[in-house]
Amino acid sequence: MTMNPKKTKADWQAEQEHLDRIGKLADELIVRLELKAPIDPFQIIASEKPFIRARGGDLKNRCDGKLKYNKPQNVFLLFFNNKYDAGLPEGEHHARTRFSIAHELGHYFIPAHYKYLRHGGKAHPSSSEYHTHVQMEREADTFATSLLLPTHLVKPIIDKGITRQRLEDVARDFQASLLCTTIRAVRLSDEPCAVVGIRDGAIAWVFPSERLVEGGCYPRRSTLRSPTAVEQWEAFEDGSNERVEREGMLPDWFQLFSKEDELAEVYVAEHYLPIRIMNTLVVLISVEDEDLFPVDVEEDEPEEY
Ligand SMILES: [Zn+2]
Repeated sequence: MTMNPKKTKADWQAEQEHLDRIGKLADELIVRLELKAPIDPFQIIASEKPFIRARGGDLKNRCDGKLKYNKPQNVFLLFFNNKYDAGLPEGEHHARTRFSIAHELGHYFIPAHYKYLRHGGKAHPSSSEYHTHVQMEREADTFATSLLLPTHLVKPIIDKGITRQRLEDVARDFQASLLCTTIRAVRLSDEPCAVVGIRDGAIAWVFPSERLVEGGCYPRRSTLRSPTAVEQWEAFEDGSNERVEREGMLPDWFQLFSKEDELAEVYVAEHYLPIRIMNTLVVLISVEDEDLFPVDVEEDEPEEY
């Protein structure tokens, strides 16, 4: 998610609810088609036959995919870039290719996008994961992430706790990128946590869990305030691919609005995951639930341990 410094708490919530509804569209589709991990986007395309046809080709660096409506034939043509599939066995696709196809399917299955394209809206080339600022692209990315990592299949795994190993296992089993899996895990988590992308020494995007937002923490504007994050970004720029765990302060990462005083001293765990290919330093941030939601201890009752 791109940071807009002017965004209010209400704006943020409205947008999140909108994106959650789009994610549910993808979830419902997977339930209806009874697909299992790894989700095969081509099975989804086959289920819409003859209204959509897919074709892969090496589109070089022009775009990752495109969805075009052909009016005379009343068919949607889905083009995807297969340059990432080089070296894979016939019929197998790289996680990035799968994401591109799932993204284009978003333009087909999200009703507003479908209408737009059918009524002569210009097909726009889509670029890779989470780079774009355009609202439609963000919606299609949300759809794609839910499609490849459906709630009913992924949430039970994530509910056991987000660990590095678990994220890697899910990414492998669902053939999704580690970044996509991490973002999805955070969105599905019942714990207060977030995933932050640092690019060019600044916060490029933040995905918080619902529990974190409930606790009063909102994505904050794009400057990098955490001293540990500044250090880790410098190390990343110097070529370090080390995955380290550090500790930071909550107010350095989130906008706290009315809870500024209350949460000033709360610590967070920072897991740094360098993703060189995207020139992004990803940070998984977790907060202790009791730090955000202090439990009132009844005075006349003995405390239990
Ligand atoms: Zn697109």
